[in-house]
Amino acid sequence: MPITPDQQAEIDAQRSATSQTLRATSPGAEAHLYKAHGLLDHGFVRLIDYMGDDGAIVQAARVSYGRGTKAVQNDAGLIRYLMRHWHSTPFEMCEAKFHVKLPVFVARQWIRHRTANVNEYSARYSILDREFYIPAPEHLAAQSVVNNQGRGAVLEGEEAARVLDMLKADANRAYDHYEEMLNQDGQQGLARELARMNLPANVYTQWYWKVDLHNLFHFLRLRADAHAQFEIRVYAQKMCEIVADWVPAAYAAFEDYRLGGANLSGKAIDCVRRMIKGEEVTQETSGMSAGEWREFQGVLGG
Ligand SMILES: Cc1cc2nc3c(=O)[nH]c(=O)nc-3n(C[C@H](O)[C@H](O)[C@H](O)COP(=O)(O)OP(=O)(O)OC[C@H]3O[C@@H](n4cnc5c(N)ncnc54)[C@H](O)[C@@H]3O)c2cc1C
Repeated sequence: MPITPDQQAEIDAQRSATSQTLRATSPGAEAHLYKAHGLLDHGFVRLIDYMGDDGAIVQAARVSYGRGTKAVQNDAGLIRYLMRHWHSTPFEMCEAKFHVKLPVFVARQWIRHRTANVNEYSARYSILDREFYIPAPEHLAAQSVVNNQGRGAVLEGEEAARVLDMLKADANRAYDHYEEMLNQDGQQGLARELARMNLPANVYTQWYWKVDLHNLFHFLRLRADAHAQFEIRVYAQKMCEIVADWVPAAYAAFEDYRLGGANLSGKAIDCVRRMIKGEEVTQETSGMSAGEWREFQGVLGG
């Protein structure tokens, strides 16, 4: 269970207390504030705080004195222009802070994004819960035969059951030993900072993660992408929904230019130009490698 009744009560209490502010607020972000969106079997992502809205982006871009908002249409147009031309600093004026609960192996991928501020739950100070990520049967898949960094068909029957049993048994055995080592009844009890080292990478951790919108978009582009591992992708996809509600114009531009767009190399653009002129271009005449050509075909929908 991602959230206990006590934690839910704390969240409800926080959501029921309001205060006045002169700062810009976003109705979409306010609707998400503090709420836990459950992910995987025990994980969640919550928006804890945010700074700025779509108006803050245009306000910074125009270096204006007031809220900076002209017509909504103009603001959206300016935001699209900024996104299109990689004019990124106005997006850095907005920030979001998330509380994330995630398996350690997902955290290892996530922490590679160095431009965020992170504070993680201390397993030196506190005792970790008996919470391990066990994939749902539909996500228990075989090694991919086409992509070394991916998974293929779903495991079935006896193999699937055996793998699930091993994952559960190993996690429980490791946690039993963790508790046994910590135990101070009739023994000294091993330090928390040492006892944790036998726990597997599917144990859950938590952190607060704060990032500006420019770097958040970079994270989302990489981690909401189909090439990202499913277990981090579900977090990124949920965060995309939150960001879309927080800064709708900026997210729409991001969705169009970054998620929906594609980078074409000089060779690829040359091929497109030749194709438009009616030439039949093949991989052999394109100057591209087989892999590049396959990806180019994918962009063209071929
Ligand atoms: C599908 C996928 C597969 C991956 N596979 C692997 C793998 O097999 N092994 C592995 O180790 N990693 C892997 N990664 C991680 C990847 O290489 C990046 O480390 C990760 O995506 C973070 O990207 P970033 O450095 O651009 O992001 P951030 O750290 O958030 O940085 C954002 C941007 O800031 C700039 N920046 C930040 N810090 C510096 C710096 N110190 N110097 C210069 N510029 C900086 C860069 O422009 C960077 O793009 C994978 C990532 C993905 C999405």
